[in-house]
Parts: sequence; structure tokens; C-alpha cells
Amino acid sequence: MFGKMMHQSLLISNLIEHAAKYHADTSIISRELNGQITTTNWSKVQQNAKRLANALTTFNLKMGDRLATIAWNNHRHLESWYAISGSGYVCHTINPRLFPEQLVFIINDAQDKAIFFDSTFLPLIVAIQDKVPTVEHFICYGSREEKVLTALPNVIFYDELIQNQSTEWNWPQFSEETPSSLCYTSGTTGNPKGVLYSHRSTLLHTMAISLPDSLNLSAKDIVMPVVPMFHVNAWGIPYAAAMVGCTIVLPGPNLDGDSLVSLIDEYNVTVALGVPTIWQGLLTAAKKRGTSLASMTRNVVGGAACPPSIIRDFKNNYACDTIHAWGMSETSPLGTANQPKAKHLALNEDEFEKLRLTQGRPPFGVELRIVNGDSITALPNDGHTQGNLQIRGPWIVENYFNQEKSVLTSDGWFDTGDIATLDADGYMTICDRAKDLIKSGGEWISSVEIENIAVGHPEIRMAAAIAARHPKWDERPVLIAVKQENSALTEDDVRAYFENKIAHWQIPDAVIFVDALPINGTGKIVKAELRAKFSDVLLNSALA
Ligand code: AMP
Repeated sequence: MFGKMMHQSLLISNLIEHAAKYHADTSIISRELNGQITTTNWSKVQQNAKRLANALTTFNLKMGDRLATIAWNNHRHLESWYAISGSGYVCHTINPRLFPEQLVFIINDAQDKAIFFDSTFLPLIVAIQDKVPTVEHFICYGSREEKVLTALPNVIFYDELIQNQSTEWNWPQFSEETPSSLCYTSGTTGNPKGVLYSHRSTLLHTMAISLPDSLNLSAKDIVMPVVPMFHVNAWGIPYAAAMVGCTIVLPGPNLDGDSLVSLIDEYNVTVALGVPTIWQGLLTAAKKRGTSLASMTRNVVGGAACPPSIIRDFKNNYACDTIHAWGMSETSPLGTANQPKAKHLALNEDEFEKLRLTQGRPPFGVELRIVNGDSITALPNDGHTQGNLQIRGPWIVENYFNQEKSVLTSDGWFDTGDIATLDADGYMTICDRAKDLIKSGGEWISSVEIENIAVGHPEIRMAAAIAARHPKWDERPVLIAVKQENSALTEDDVRAYFENKIAHWQIPDAVIFVDALPINGTGKIVKAELRAKFSDVLLNSALA
């Protein structure tokens, strides 16, 4: 026997229909490639999505076909998301900062039928077009541009494609288990792996991230996803904004601190989301300008550990509450978000801050455990036992695209590759990526902890701690750091700064100053590159 309630599949098209019906005039602000701002709204986004859906019927596609996008966060990209997934195709968001060989690999692996792109990426498209035989249509966002036409004669221009199409369109109805979007993880070893989300997983995730104890989104918000739409679906914000009916500010290609500060102040952004490197740039720009970022009530940081200095700076100088969140491509991405419980409001300032620095706790739908290596026996949730973090739930990967084999443990959990602690309330602290831990004489040193301290130094702009090979201790920590402009900081100054902040034996053996750290397409520091370059520095030096 079934319950006697209506059955309605949880489909992405329901989101855009809801937004257009009940939040039609709510603005969507979008920065164009030339820097200009376009203001549209949920009704117009829905109408263009329907126009595009009509246009796609001429593309000879079948349900489940993959259509790729290589684009910034902008309104055309948003319209395409809804048109593609809403029509039953898979929206494959591609990270343009991948190496061309990786791009070719993932387009062929996905067998994309079309690529929508911003003209910024024209050289990339031209370079790979002969190597991606399944792609039949190249659609350039915007209106006709001669330079694009010359370089890519078979190009279709988005504005022309949709211009004469009808807005009469009924979204097809299908199973909520149908795939909706595809995102490849930028694996540091081996080929990237595709994570194939479903309509159901996406909608459940969207509801979970909008909750007060997650990102606390509502129709009163003006939300700015700085995190790119090609990085795990901009953490789900383009869906959640439609669900709650809020304004969304899409920053386009200009992700420097100054441009972001301008958008926040001009459009009264209440909440913005991004990786730590984005916030570092934004705070520097905000200081230079002397703005108080008055509209920002909170910001969300994830993708890498958030240094305490960032959280403090936002709280003390901008009255902005930082929500530290954790997740990965395989987890849609939200796995945890840091929101206090009622009992925590009685904590003293130090204890409260300590709690807020953790990666937070899981929303309903996510379950976490820590285990020892390959074991499937859960370790205690006592707040200090470290173990391999595993996760399960309806928006967590089961297996990768094009791969039959399940990637789960024998009892159905996904191993995240992170090392973490969990406390009795589920607050999780990431100690490190398993592969980034520094193993010194049999003891583990957290690279995250070293980095958090280092970037707390006012003259250090960015820092990464890596394991360097050592003849006696196997591995020892080495800090690679970028100084603030005009800083005269020395290696000894930095090492002294660590005294009394961590155990003496955890202090890096060497500090190497560089002009810049290698950053990948999602704004994270590429430690593999640093290891390749610096892991032998202690072997030949006097320090060894
Ligand atoms: P990706 O799938 O590229 O988004 O990378 C996911 C990985 O980023 C996770 O497994 C973590 O190692 C790391 N990560 C994400 N969020 C956080 C966070 N708040 N703190 C520490 N590491 C994080």
C-alpha cells in the first residue's frame, strides 16, 4: 500500500517554474564579459530557458545526452542550466582552467553533443575542436562577434539561437532519478572522474543547503556565488536561489577583490560564497577602499580549510558571520556547515570561536563516520580521535560516470580521502587530506594547522605546508609562503612566529618564499606541484 498523496517527481524544471511564478520580478544581476552589468529577473530567465529548450529540439538530441558549458557565472549560463537539465539532457559544466589534454579527455569521456561557451574561451575551443568528435554544435554566449565567426566558422550565437524562439514550452516530465548534471573532479592523479548528479539528488541537496542551519537562504537575500558554476554547480546556489526566490549576483569573469567589493556595495549583497583565496583578495581590497561591506551579513567559505584569521577579520571588522562549510564534488557538495546550536550560545568567546572554526555539522540527509584506514568500524566521535572521513546520503556519489564499479566501502560509505575528527554533536574538523598529512618520525602533522597559523601573520599573504623528505624523520614540514608587498620578513621571523602556537617539533624546518603559489581551476593551492618542486629541499641542505 502507498500513502495517498500526489506523486510529483523532484525535477529541476520545478525550480525555475516556481521562481518565475512567485518571484518573477526578483532581479538577477550579471556582469558581462565587457564589464557591463545586465539586470534581468527570474521571469526572464525562465522565458529564455524555454526559448533555448525550444531551440534544442532542432539539435537532434535524445534524453540523457550531455551538453557542456565552459563559462563564467552569468545569466546566459544560468538560463542554459535550466534549459538543458529541464529538457532531460545533462548539463556538463567544464572547468576552463584544466589542461587542454584534460579538457579533451573529459569532453570525449562525456561524449558531449554541444558546447556552450563564453568568448573568453574561444582560443581553447579552437585548439580542441578537432579532438572532440562527438561535439556537433558550438554555441557562443552573446550576440554575433566577427572575431568568433572567423575563428570558428560553424559557431552558433546564443542570442541569435534563442531570439525568435517561442516561450511556449512545457517541461517534459520524467523520473527524478534521471541524470541532470555532470561535473568532473580535478583529480591530482590519474584522469578526472565524472560525478553524475540526478534531479532528485539536486533537489534534496538544494533544500538542505537553504535551511537556516546550513546557508540560511531566503527570499530576502541577495546572494553572490563567487564560486564558479563549473565548480560543483557553484555549490548549488543557482538552484537554491530559484527555490527561495532571492536575487542572485553573478560576478562574471572579474573575480579580483576590487571587482567583488564593488558588486557587494553596489547591489547590497547579503551573502557571498567562495574559497579562502577569494576572501583573502576581497579583504585586502575592502581594506584599501575603506568600505565596511555594510550589506553583508554572512559569507560562506569552503573548498579548502578557512584560516581563522579570515573568520576573525570578517567578524571583528565587517560584522559579517563566516559560515565554514565542507564538501566535495562527490557530495554535491554540501557535507557540513558550521552553525551553532542553542547550547553553544552560552559558551565563552574563546570556546565559541573554537567551535566556529570547525567545518561544522551535517544537515539531515548526510551521515558521517571516521574509520581507521580500510577498516569499516567507526572510531569514537570524541572530538579528538582522527580517522578517515566517510560519508553517505542521497546526494553522495555511488559510482563515477562511465564506471561500473561502485566506489563505496563494502558497507556502503564513500571514503572522502580526508582525515578528520568528529564530536558527539557531529561537528567535524578536517585535519588534512590523507595525502597531504606530514608524517614526521611516525607522528602526523597537519599541513592545514601550519597554514592556518602562517596566514595569520600580517605579512604573509598565502602559504602552503608540504612534506619534504628527510633522512632521519622520513618527512618534515616545509612552508612555502608568499609575502605581502614590500615585506622584509625572514625565514627566522616566520619560524619564531610559530613558537607557542604549535608543538615545537611541528614547526616547519624551512620557509621558502615565492612570488606566487600554483592555484588550480577551483582556486585551491596545487600541493602536488609544490611537492614536485620542493620535496627534496631538506635532503641536501644543512638543515638535514
Ligand atoms: P573538490 O571536490 O575539488 O571540491 O575538493 C574536495 C576537497 O576539498 C575535500 O575532500 C577537502 O579535502 C577539501 N575541502 C573542502 N572544503 C573544505 C574545508 N572547509 N576545509 C578543509 N578542506 C576542505
